[in-house]
Amino acid sequence: MSSPRHCPVCDAPPQQARIFLDEHVDPARLTGLSFASRKTPEFMNHHLVQCQRCDLVYADTPPGQDELARAYHASEFDSAVEADDAARAYMQAIQPVLAQLSAQLPGQLPPDKAALEIGAGTGVFLEHLVEAGFNRVCGVEPSPAAIAAAPVARQAWLREAIFRAEDFEPASFDLVCCFMTMEHVRDPGEVARAVQQLLRPGGAFVVVVHDWRAPVNRLLGKRSPIIDIEHMQLFSPASIERLFTEAGLVQVRSHSFANRYALRYWARLLPLPGGLRTAFIRALDALGLGPLKLRFNVGNRLCVGWRPLPGKP
Ligand SMILES: [Zn+2]
Repeated sequence: MSSPRHCPVCDAPPQQARIFLDEHVDPARLTGLSFASRKTPEFMNHHLVQCQRCDLVYADTPPGQDELARAYHASEFDSAVEADDAARAYMQAIQPVLAQLSAQLPGQLPPDKAALEIGAGTGVFLEHLVEAGFNRVCGVEPSPAAIAAAPVARQAWLREAIFRAEDFEPASFDLVCCFMTMEHVRDPGEVARAVQQLLRPGGAFVVVVHDWRAPVNRLLGKRSPIIDIEHMQLFSPASIERLFTEAGLVQVRSHSFANRYALRYWARLLPLPGGLRTAFIRALDALGLGPLKLRFNVGNRLCVGWRPLPGKP
């Protein structure tokens, strides 16, 4: 086993972390869907520790970047409807950010209004951004299955890759988004610093993350869907805001965030044995309740930060 890593947000040494949850991995149960987003939870996890300095919960001996890249490359894709619901909720949540971006622009229109999404899936959110007036959008997505499932028109926006700063022009985006993906990357600090460099001055970085301190996640404990083999770290209000400020972003704010999904999807997240959960979902569908859309606060948190404008703090 490799030696434990430093905290990937504040760089505190392993001695400043205390155990959060013991490792629980059953290799026989690892499937192609283990690394897909919005899949049915399996309640497996890496050894997790809690940083006493910044409050991050993280896997202190995670798999290497190569191993992660392979897992995502092989992962399947099965969540088009949920991805669509999520994109609508994200779009609604970032309206104040879009308004502030527009207010900042000088009198004449800029040559382009550009956005990047890290972990773009089928590019459904990028389509909303185009509708909102962005004329250059790009999505990075490591899963070829997700890109293959995208409509042809969106595939041109998508790049099959793990996010790397050097693939993009510095200071070339007004908005960078990353939804439910910061938990998956091996080095979230590196991603945040790279995003800061890719933003134009006055540009915004927006993420949605799971909040391990949210009441629903504290209540469910190790049966929470956030306790999962795919998660290299889990944020809290303090640790996500620290990630942003350490990366040089300013006016950093975070708040809890409600998702709107079909009841059938919510039922998949219930901490029930597989057979019981399947029976429950069948019953919902038989009653015609499965597709019913409901909004719940399930312990997600939206965080926004800005690249400073020259001459402003
Ligand atoms: Zn830390």
